[in-house]
Amino acid sequence: MKTIGILGGMSWESTATYYQLLNQIVRARLGGLHSADILLRSFDFAPIAELQSEENWDGAADLMVEAALKLEKAGAACLLIGTNTMHICADAVQARLSIPLLHIADVTAESIQARASKSPLLLATRFTMEKDFYKERLSQRHGVEVLIPDEQERADVHRIIYDELCQGIISRQSKTRYLEIIESAKANGADGVIFGCTEVGLLISTNDVDMPVFNSTELHAQAAVDYALSKRS
Ligand code: GLU
Repeated sequence: MKTIGILGGMSWESTATYYQLLNQIVRARLGGLHSADILLRSFDFAPIAELQSEENWDGAADLMVEAALKLEKAGAACLLIGTNTMHICADAVQARLSIPLLHIADVTAESIQARASKSPLLLATRFTMEKDFYKERLSQRHGVEVLIPDEQERADVHRIIYDELCQGIISRQSKTRYLEIIESAKANGADGVIFGCTEVGLLISTNDVDMPVFNSTELHAQAAVDYALSKRS
């Protein structure tokens, strides 16, 4: 089994989910006492979130590159950036690594294509919903065109991620708001929902939504185990 490197802590609430999923998937595949072989670098999220709000993406990329190189040196065979938003630095990180970075948008797109969703709604931070790095990758590399919530909805989705989910707060009111946004997107033609933030699955689940759900955290963890157990190098 190959070692999975993870840049985590962004936030740790979802890194805990990654940790659990990776181990559960390995146990389901190999059985017995098997568990995932993981190298985790867990950041203090506060300074990272500050760089994000200042839009200091070069500063953020420097931190990601430095940490990723350490994981590679320590023996990671592949790298996960355990957040959709910080994939804004993915190309800068991959350019410095010899090991593959398993891109969260690529694995999510594969699932969208497999389920033939044509217009999935993207629920994510405002950076991921509004900037090009994620939507363009889905569109240009995979032909997936996403719908995004309207301005007020995007503000609510973003606020709930940072002020609640990343701080371990799960509120019924916020769940209702997310489901309202999904319903309105469905009325406007959405035929699926991308949980494009690794904390969204802490608030709502596949069972809450009557359309195909693409949970980026689960898909990313699955892809990492596929890689770790494959013969690919
Ligand atoms: N984990 C979140 C994501 O998947 C948001 C926190 C962050 O900005 O890293 O985008």
